[in-house]
Amino acid sequence: MTNYNESSEDREGSGGAAPGRAESGENPAEFGAGAGGPRPSDADLFLSPHSDDVCFSLGDLAARRGAGTLLTVYSRSRHIAGPAAKAASVDEVTARRLAEDAAFAAACNLAVEDLELSEAPLRGHRPFELDGLAREVETLEPLLLDRIRGLAARRKPPDRPWLFCPAGIGGHLDHAAIMTAIARNLDKLQAIYWVCFYEELPYASSVLTRSIGLRRLAQTLPQFTLTRRHWEMTDDGKRKLDLVRLYASQFAAPPAHIAPFSPALYLAHAPHESVWTVQRRS
Ligand SMILES: [Zn+2]
Repeated sequence: MTNYNESSEDREGSGGAAPGRAESGENPAEFGAGAGGPRPSDADLFLSPHSDDVCFSLGDLAARRGAGTLLTVYSRSRHIAGPAAKAASVDEVTARRLAEDAAFAAACNLAVEDLELSEAPLRGHRPFELDGLAREVETLEPLLLDRIRGLAARRKPPDRPWLFCPAGIGGHLDHAAIMTAIARNLDKLQAIYWVCFYEELPYASSVLTRSIGLRRLAQTLPQFTLTRRHWEMTDDGKRKLDLVRLYASQFAAPPAHIAPFSPALYLAHAPHESVWTVQRRS
């Protein structure tokens, strides 16, 4: 038995309409936990494991909401597409990728922050092996929580902003470490934020990868019920594709299709983005 709502997902996947709107009457740009959910806030926080993850996963939502902070966690990187990759130093690649973050953030009216941590290969890890996850979480957790607490101080109570956290789909060590650190502190964080877990793209554009990732998320949060919310992309994804192309360092050629940046469901669906909201079981 799982604690996430597959039947609701099937219903969402089959229609192509915007179920967030259909189910609750909300504007998807203002979606929240129930009617009257939180509107966009300057204290909203988008956690990006690496430069590009929030854009690729939630670019349409971030542009629609137009408020908050983009916090890139493992911002030191040597990951770049094409022949330039071999010659570039970590400092050069990091600077280029942070400049891409800055352009994306400017297009979405987000503030930018980064935690200056090194991505998994620079720490000596194979990025998709999770054997060392527990140790990585121990290292990350105090640093991440400290920065989040600092950013949360900007909110104006009783304002309760959104915290958008990666779901860990794709099994990348850095994504899984952030998801686990947030999951371990979920009750404390939910007192300050509405916390949700977003489906990472392009990983979630594979049915199998997405399914494995969602199962891992549910297993990490056994005391919580997860509910999927999604919204169709503006202009069938054209707006998001423009944002994705800001990350030119990650592509040998500019991406031409939105499909890799939309979750794959079992049934036909329109280009969309998705998060899972969490509610502790009573
Ligand atoms: Zn990533």
